[in-house]
Amino acid sequence: MPWDIQYKNGIYLPQIDWWLDAQKPANRAVVSHAHIDHCARHKEIVCTPATARLMRARMPGKRVEHLLPFGQAEQLTSDTSVTLLPAGHIFGSALCLLEHSQHGRLLYTGDFKLHAGLAAEPCATPQADVLIMETTFGRPRYVFPPVEEVRAALVKFCQQAFAAGATPVFYAYGLGKSQELLCILGAAGLPVMMHSETFRLTETCRQLGLALPDYHEFSADKLPGHVVICPPQSRNASFLRKIPAPRTAMVSGWALDRSTVFRHRCDAAFPLSDHADFPELLRFVELVKPKRVLTLHGFAADFARHLRQLGIDAWAISEHNQMELPLLGPPRPAV
Ligand SMILES: [Zn+2]
Repeated sequence: MPWDIQYKNGIYLPQIDWWLDAQKPANRAVVSHAHIDHCARHKEIVCTPATARLMRARMPGKRVEHLLPFGQAEQLTSDTSVTLLPAGHIFGSALCLLEHSQHGRLLYTGDFKLHAGLAAEPCATPQADVLIMETTFGRPRYVFPPVEEVRAALVKFCQQAFAAGATPVFYAYGLGKSQELLCILGAAGLPVMMHSETFRLTETCRQLGLALPDYHEFSADKLPGHVVICPPQSRNASFLRKIPAPRTAMVSGWALDRSTVFRHRCDAAFPLSDHADFPELLRFVELVKPKRVLTLHGFAADFARHLRQLGIDAWAISEHNQMELPLLGPPRPAV
């Protein structure tokens, strides 16, 4: 009997009555990582110790936590085991591997990337019968430049800003991207100041054992000579007015879209991403060797179509579910 997989505000598995990254409060959910769009106020969760701690910082409240270190299999139900493996997305982020004697191996990626980052554990690539994967950058045009090239460009942007008497300001998500950016800037000897929200999340990562260069909370008095990292939404806030002559840049995989500079009203954009690009998505499928792929987030329908053209049984499970999943036709082999 195959896995019964439903999508409604996250993945629901009725055969075992567990959710994967439910976006609304659920009784029992595996949480892949601590980004807000993958969490909710659940009653009972399974996640890595780092994700639990980061979740507590972002979403206080009582819940039963089952902390599962990477690579350690535990029984989720009487006939299903769960193993969390590094997803390479942000610190503590996990792929979730479920094994059931009749339904087979199901791998759920959450968000992931294959290229090595400086602030996340390297991504694992276990084999599975069914793969449920995120496809944020699931169109062929999304190919990131080599990471070293982007890192060098970020450093050059700072040096040029300082040379012009300006303060380099990076817009980056507080959890994941900001710590990655800090590692890049620190390695180049550039001192960093962080918006208070970013600072708080970075402190939590450091306390959890993530090795990071020095950084300071933003202080207008001590600003000269520092690079500033702040969340994207703070661009219009009073925060930015505290910075004389800011030179701003968005740091995101979406920088591959020309409109990014315009949309974020910044001076530059750099394609440094916590997600897999199109070639990495394909490579991941190759390595996992699934019999069936279900896609969600981003260009899910496009990527599933691309996989089908390669002869892989693949369907979008998220936004275009009704149109994508075949309602008629021969039954697909059980996986
Ligand atoms: Zn994420």
